[in-house]
Amino acid sequence: MGLFDKKDKYFRINPNRSFKGESTPKPEVPDELFAKCPACKHLIYQKDLGLAKICPTCSYNFRISALERLAITADEGTFEELFSGIETRDPLRFPKYQEKLAQAREKTGLDEAVLTGLASIEGQKTALAIMDANFIMASMGTVVGEKITRLFELATKEKLPVVIFTASGGARMQEGIMSLMQMAKISAAVKRHSEAGLFYLTVLTDPTTGGVTASFAMEGDIILAEPQTLVGFAGRRVIETTVKQDLPEDFQKAEFLLEHGFVDKIVKRTVLPQVIGKLLAFHGGVS
Ligand SMILES: [Zn+2]
Repeated sequence: MGLFDKKDKYFRINPNRSFKGESTPKPEVPDELFAKCPACKHLIYQKDLGLAKICPTCSYNFRISALERLAITADEGTFEELFSGIETRDPLRFPKYQEKLAQAREKTGLDEAVLTGLASIEGQKTALAIMDANFIMASMGTVVGEKITRLFELATKEKLPVVIFTASGGARMQEGIMSLMQMAKISAAVKRHSEAGLFYLTVLTDPTTGGVTASFAMEGDIILAEPQTLVGFAGRRVIETTVKQDLPEDFQKAEFLLEHGFVDKIVKRTVLPQVIGKLLAFHGGVS
């Protein structure tokens, strides 16, 4: 399908560039050769980040796209994409929404902010959804809601577990109240799946906030999180202004949530597939 073809992006020659007094063009070094770690500020050679994109100096987990996540999570060649191509409506005719959607599609290679389908993880068959923060901050609009709901409905019918990697800036303001309705719609589908005795696992990834946290992200039978993931409903500044108190430094980090019982375990990205595979097997796995 060409999605994971390695492009020769580290070293390329721009044929249109002119070089005064030079007979042969010099290779151009693109910006993406190095990445700056947001945590320790070190410059890291992209190749040293590896597929999992973890800082070799401070172990910071870089944010990764849905396709990158899929590549390090699902067993090779097992992913079957479902529910793509649902048209995103613009009910409010929100200014520049269509342009924003077009840019997001171009940037991510996805049709919406969540990728949904069936896959095997460590040999265990599961329904899988992966949200992509590069797509309008993975905000939850009607299509995101519809794709996740349909995934739960299919999983209920096929007696499959559901694994969701959450990431979101919250509800999609461009769709107004329609986006908020998705919280209830997905939660109802989660409940029907749960009542059928099926297993639902969420993995909170940086950042998981707003309406996604207030609904399906925290409804998993087991809730895992990546280290240092930001998890919250309202933003820190909003809360501080409202309660007129300073909040602890690690407030809204996965580690704080673990301490307070909202997260079951924090798992390193490199071992997540093994942990997910074991949990699926423990809970009546389908292989
Ligand atoms: Zn670092």
